[in-house]
Amino acid sequence: MVSWGGSPVKKDTTRNHKILTFSKRGLMLKNKVCTKCKVNYPATVEYFYRHSTHKDGLRSQCKKCRKPYYKRQHSEYYQKHKETYNLHKRLYKEKHWLRVRASQWNTLYSSSLTEHQLKELFENQDTLCTLCGIVLNSHCHLDHIVPRCLGGQSKINNLQFLCEKCNKGKNKWPVEDYINHCERVFNFNKQRTE
Ligand SMILES: [Zn+2]
Ligand SMILES: [Zn+2]
Repeated sequence: MVSWGGSPVKKDTTRNHKILTFSKRGLMLKNKVCTKCKVNYPATVEYFYRHSTHKDGLRSQCKKCRKPYYKRQHSEYYQKHKETYNLHKRLYKEKHWLRVRASQWNTLYSSSLTEHQLKELFENQDTLCTLCGIVLNSHCHLDHIVPRCLGGQSKINNLQFLCEKCNKGKNKWPVEDYINHCERVFNFNKQRTE
């Protein structure tokens, strides 16, 4: 790193100004050779990261050469602040769980659900599991009413929110099959205990 003029220039406030004044006076270098790979690039922010204490306001190495360093730095930063980072991530997921769900669903089934559609669906169900009536929270499951293996589409009118148990029980069956099976389980056990 080349230090320039002893005391370092303050960040942010000066660097944009510096690039501007140099270019206005026509002193800005048109090209700049990267000190690492020796490639001649236009001396712009497109090819070089900014640096407040450098003459032209740009780093001496090109973006390509600097990138691995920033990546590493980022990962060191990540290691240091992992817990805070994960906490914020969890809070975001919890707060915007319908948004996250819509996006996951769209990636998984290449559909185009919106957070709004899911919110409407959830409210229309009165936030209850459609099969057992238990109150749902952000950990509930989104289910294809007509299973995909039977030609059901990943569109909003073929979706319902279920509790985990009902979704796992229903699995790839049509709703009626699952209800019939539940009845069978219920009746058989009732008879046994009588
Ligand atoms: Zn380079
Ligand atoms: Zn349920």
